Amino acid sequence: SPWVWLNEDYCPADQARVSVFDRGFLFADGVYEVTAVVNGKLLDFHAHMQRLQRSCQALELALPWAVETLQQIHETLVARNKVQEGSVYLQLTRGNPGKRDFHYPDASVPPTLVVFTQSHNILQDARVESGLSVVTCPDIRWQRCDVKTVSLLAASMAKMAAQAQGADDAVFVKDGLITEASSANCFMVTPGGKLVTRALSPAILPGITRAAILDICQQHQLEIETRAFSPQEACGAREVFITSATTFVMPVTRLDGNPIGDGRPGPVAISLRNAYLARFGAGLQC
Ligand code: PLP
Repeated sequence: SPWVWLNEDYCPADQARVSVFDRGFLFADGVYEVTAVVNGKLLDFHAHMQRLQRSCQALELALPWAVETLQQIHETLVARNKVQEGSVYLQLTRGNPGKRDFHYPDASVPPTLVVFTQSHNILQDARVESGLSVVTCPDIRWQRCDVKTVSLLAASMAKMAAQAQGADDAVFVKDGLITEASSANCFMVTPGGKLVTRALSPAILPGITRAAILDICQQHQLEIETRAFSPQEACGAREVFITSATTFVMPVTRLDGNPIGDGRPGPVAISLRNAYLARFGAGLQC
């Protein structure tokens, strides 16, 4: 059984137990982070921890662990579980008050911290060659999508709806405009060659990969427009791609059945993917 972290200590996964009264279980009262691992190294760890602190602040959730401690937990689990490639999942909930009560418990109830690893191939992904087929789906999520909470049912429903339509993933649409994908941020390259992504707001998660891509663009003096765009505009785009910690930059080649551009992954998506991976010395993939 692999090792996990639960509250105060490492523990074999098959012995890790959380209370039925845990607020993560009863109220989805918790936040999480997923950090990618490549060649046994965590990618953008500090940015993920900064966002975790932000999520905690937004929910008045205590985080009684220093970032250095969290890093040590991550690195120890990666080493003990021999993760070369995959991810580390961290979840923090408002703990177990021993009863079901909507009100937050007082500060004497400690939060629950769970950290576990998953080994899976993230560099070699056949979907990079084909590009994803995505479908639009109404954005039925709450109005604080900028907070990375474990309340993921709407995302799960969107992925199931996509699967039922034979698609790989879903992008959410709100007021006629794409917010983001079910678990990734969304970009397009206009027919004029301009890179566009939605501006940060409570409507989307401030993606760590999104920020890294913006940073790469700035370094290369590539202009980027931060504005919302519609599915119709995306259908007429040269390229569409999505970004997330474990998929990096993933080309989208079909939107609601319409081919994007020539229906193949575009050069901007591929070069940004390679530039992103090169930051970690992960080597070129395409
Ligand atoms: N948007 C949503 C809704 C997500 O769940 C995620 C993460 O999985 C992202 C965007 C991408 O964020 P990141 O690049 O930090 O993984």
